[in-house]
Amino acid sequence: MKCNFNEQVNLLLEHIDKADAVCVGAAAGMSVAAGYDCAYHNDKYFEKYLGEFGRKYGFEGSFNGYYYRYQTSEERWAFLAAAIYMNMDLPDGPVYENLFDLLKEKTYFIVTTNQDTLFSRRFPENRVGTIQGDFRWLQCIRPCHDELFESKKLIEEMYVNIRDCRIPTELIPHCPKCGRELEPWVRGFTFLEGEKYREEYNKWNRFLMENKDKNILFLELGVGRMTPMFIREPFWNMTYSWPKAFYIAINPQDALLPKELKEKGFTIKEDIAGVLENAIKRKKEQAGKAGME
Ligand SMILES: [Zn+2]
Repeated sequence: MKCNFNEQVNLLLEHIDKADAVCVGAAAGMSVAAGYDCAYHNDKYFEKYLGEFGRKYGFEGSFNGYYYRYQTSEERWAFLAAAIYMNMDLPDGPVYENLFDLLKEKTYFIVTTNQDTLFSRRFPENRVGTIQGDFRWLQCIRPCHDELFESKKLIEEMYVNIRDCRIPTELIPHCPKCGRELEPWVRGFTFLEGEKYREEYNKWNRFLMENKDKNILFLELGVGRMTPMFIREPFWNMTYSWPKAFYIAINPQDALLPKELKEKGFTIKEDIAGVLENAIKRKKEQAGKAGME
């Protein structure tokens, strides 16, 4: 779209304002916008929580840490505990706060492939669908049954007991049914697509069915090119098929608009944090002006 930054922010606000419902789809770019680059690089957060692991094993970013072949479960769980603890400990920050302020008076739903638990910090559970799992939960590694276990207490206990990049053997979590190890409930070879998984999708589907004939805005935030089938392609298809749907993608690199949606959407190729911050500033100015009239 050929208009300047301020015009783009104004257009975004107009579309949020006139929407009856807003469906947000968020992926890795949201975490980067929040200032967290620790998934792929050794930033200051990586250094604080995972620096010892990075130096010992020679990997960069927590993502590589999840896939490193540890020799023992004690070493693997020490890393997992530190990485999950980091996720739970990092503040969600102004990006999430601004998004919340933009949406709080609207009917909205957020679907996310992020597993970092940042959305659930600020947004109510019934308005967030975590369709790729969530580090707040553990599952049986096999999985032998359809039950999830809250990870918080287990992870905290492991984290405070890490010595030399390993945890005591007795803290390794096991499945109460089959005795195998538990595993974080996130997308991977053994990801449990059970009741909780279906519920995450059901929440999203209910929202879509309730709003499909209304003015629904699909707002895509930080979705990359790697896995378009989870958020981007459904957003495009629904925008195309539903008469009053509109699509906006905010992403500094990967925003794309298919030519079929030229009349029903636009992209903002800017930093998500900056766009949301400006949108909130503008919204407050508008509210101030309206108050004076
Ligand atoms: Zn089991």
